[in-house]
Amino acid sequence: MHFSDLLAQQRHYFKAQHTKTLAARKSALQRFKQMLLANEAQLYAAVHADFQKSEHEAFLTEWAILIKDIDEALGALPKWMKAQKVSTNLVNLPGKSYVVPEPLGVCLVIGAWNYPVQLSFAPVIAALAAGNTVILKPSELAANSAQCMADIVANYFDPQLFTVVLGGVAETTALLEQRFDKIFFTGSPAVGRIVYQAAAKHLTPVTLELGGKSPAILTPSADLPTAIKRLVWAKFLNAGQTCIAPDYVFVHESIYRECLNLFQQEIEKNQYALANKNYVQIINERNLARLENLLDKDKIAYGGAINHADRTISPTLLKDVGFDDAIMQEEIFGPILPLLPYTDFQEALAYIQDHEKPLSAYLFCNNKTEQAAWLSHLSFGGGCINDAIMHITNPNLPFGGVGQSGTGSYHGKSGFDTFSHRKSVFEKPRLFEVPLKYPPYTASKMNWIKRLLKFS
Ligand code: NAD
Repeated sequence: MHFSDLLAQQRHYFKAQHTKTLAARKSALQRFKQMLLANEAQLYAAVHADFQKSEHEAFLTEWAILIKDIDEALGALPKWMKAQKVSTNLVNLPGKSYVVPEPLGVCLVIGAWNYPVQLSFAPVIAALAAGNTVILKPSELAANSAQCMADIVANYFDPQLFTVVLGGVAETTALLEQRFDKIFFTGSPAVGRIVYQAAAKHLTPVTLELGGKSPAILTPSADLPTAIKRLVWAKFLNAGQTCIAPDYVFVHESIYRECLNLFQQEIEKNQYALANKNYVQIINERNLARLENLLDKDKIAYGGAINHADRTISPTLLKDVGFDDAIMQEEIFGPILPLLPYTDFQEALAYIQDHEKPLSAYLFCNNKTEQAAWLSHLSFGGGCINDAIMHITNPNLPFGGVGQSGTGSYHGKSGFDTFSHRKSVFEKPRLFEVPLKYPPYTASKMNWIKRLLKFS
C-alpha cells in the first residue's frame, strides 16, 4: 500500500470520530497493554537479538516503563481530557470560557534504536491516549525489535488506528513527504534537521527528541563514592548508548586522583560483561568503528579493550583529554568516559555555557551556592543534582531537550499535551448583547469602552 493511501485511511478513521471518546482511548490503551503482556518474551528476545540486552535490563528500560505509562494514562485520562474553565474578562460578560484538549489527527512517530521498544512505543501510547491515529517508523538499526513490533502491532491493532512501517532512510523520506498533523522524532540532531525541514513544508508541528553532549560536574563537596557509583551506572548502562548518559565529567583537580581510582574500582566491582547480562553490544560495526576512531589510545586511563567479534568496548576512562580532542567534538554515545580536571567551578560552567544546550546535565555537589549557580547559569533539557539519568523515570517531569538537544517534551501528562491541541472556546448566552462594539461609533460609546477597558 502507498503511504498516501495509509494516511487517507487513518484520516478517514479519525474524522469518523473513532478515536476521540474516553471509551475509545481507554480501549486502545487496554489493547496496547494486552499486547505488551502477551508478547513480553518475544520483545525481550528481539531486543536481545539486536544487541544482547539482557531480560533484566529490557524489563527495566524497555517494557515496565510502557506498562506504567499505560496505567497512568488509563487512570488520569478523564482528568486530562476535561475542558479547563478559565475566567471570562469583563468585556465578554456574561459568558463562559474554557480550553478543550483535542487530538491533532494523524501522527508520525519515528523511533531511535538505542532503547528500541521504549522509544518507539512510549510516544505512541501518548498519541493514542490523546485520541490520535499513529504510524510508527522504528529504527532499522535495531532490526529484530522493529520487526517484532511490526508483527505484534499488526495482530492487535486496526491499521486505521495504529500501524508500523518498517524501513530506513528511503522509507522515512517517503513518509515525510506526506502531510501529517504531528511528527514526533527521536534521534540525532542531524536527522532532526531533515525532519524539521520536511515538516515545515506542511506546517506540521514537531516534537524533536534529540541528543548532544550531556555534562556532569563532580565537586569536592559531593559524597564521592555514592556520586561515582551513580555516575558509573548511568554511563555504562546500555554500554553508554543512552541519550542522557553523562557524556563527560568535570572533576575538581583537588579530588581528581582519588576519583580516578574510585571510578576504576566501581567499574571493576560491577564486572560489566555480556556474559554477566549487565552489558550490551555496540549496535553495529559502523558505530564500533566510529567509537574506535574517537578513542585516543594515549589517553586511556582504564579499559579500552575493543572486541570486534563480540562488538564490544570495555568500560573506558580517559584522562588528559583536551577540549580540542575529537572525543570532545561530538556526542560519544558509547562506553567511553572522559574525566576533565577543572580548577574553578565558574570555568566549568562557562565551558558548558559556550557549547550547545545539552539534553541533560548532572551536578554532584552539596554546596548550595554552587547548586544555585549551576541551575541558573546552565540551560539544559532536564537533569539531576546528586544523581544521573533518574529524572527520566519520574513521569511528572516533562522529558525533552532545548535548543540543539530538542524541542517539545513528553512523559505522563506532558506526553498527552504534546499530542493535543488546546482549543480555546468562548461561549456567549443566546440573547444578551452589549451594543457598544457596533456602529454607529459615537462619543458616548467610546467613553463607555474606555471605562470598561480601564483607559479612563
Ligand atoms: P538517527 O538520527 O540516525 O535515526 C533516528 C531515526 O531517523 C531512525 O528511525 C532512522 O531510520 C531515521 N533516519 C536516519 N537517517 C534519516 C534520513 N536521512 N532521513 C530521514 N530519516 C532518517 O539516530 P539514532 O542513531 O537512531 O539515535 C542516536 C541519536 O539519537 C543520538 O544523538 C541520541 O542522543 C539521540 N537520542 C535521543 C533520545 C531522546 O529521547 N532525546 C533518545 C534516544 C536517542
